[in-house]
Amino acid sequence: MDAKTCLRKMQLVGVLNVATVDENGAPQIRCISAVHYDENSFYFFTAKGKNVTKELLADGRVQILVYTKFKEMIRLSAKAYPVADERQKKCIDTIFEEQPYLANLYPDNKRYIGICFEIKDASIEYFNLGVNPIFRETYTVGNGMAEFKGYRITDKCIGCGKCLKFCPQNCIDKVELKPYTIRQNNCLHCGACFENCPIGAIIRL
Ligand code: SF4
Ligand code: SF4
Repeated sequence: MDAKTCLRKMQLVGVLNVATVDENGAPQIRCISAVHYDENSFYFFTAKGKNVTKELLADGRVQILVYTKFKEMIRLSAKAYPVADERQKKCIDTIFEEQPYLANLYPDNKRYIGICFEIKDASIEYFNLGVNPIFRETYTVGNGMAEFKGYRITDKCIGCGKCLKFCPQNCIDKVELKPYTIRQNNCLHCGACFENCPIGAIIRL
């Protein structure tokens, strides 16, 4: 798996769940399917008067989530920026060509009440629940910064083995020279090891 394949999967799913933050810091989520992908970025269309536009212009942070029929979760975190004024018309026209249903909503020139936003720098979390053990990985797009989550076993580990008994994915490796290690690509982030380590040797990242 890689970032490009994740973007391709998002494109195939078609509908993106897009979450923003409003002026009170509350999460706001909606579905957006008016999307165009190119080599380096992707773009989405909405109307200028919608709250999502207000939130994107004020704050810009977005999380986008898709879930495939293969039980893959793809979550993209980024900032969205309005496409430059001189490129807005072309971007809107491209999205309307690819998504003909939009002409029902905004016929003829009424589409230009819309605005396109662009995402080019992002981090992507890929999480496949359809394989055993589960598989997760983090990627970046453009200059996006990867954010690592989950748990790590520190040098405090005394090798007692208790965490192994609680791990639902058997993704903790016993190593001759302690500390034990978590196979991060197979970890659910459930926290069972963290909660059951008798000496607090596991930290949350
Ligand atoms: S339970 Fe804690 S001390 Fe025991 S092996 Fe696991 S991490 Fe190490
Ligand atoms: S967080 Fe859960 S899945 Fe991950 S290593 Fe700990 S017990 Fe295993």
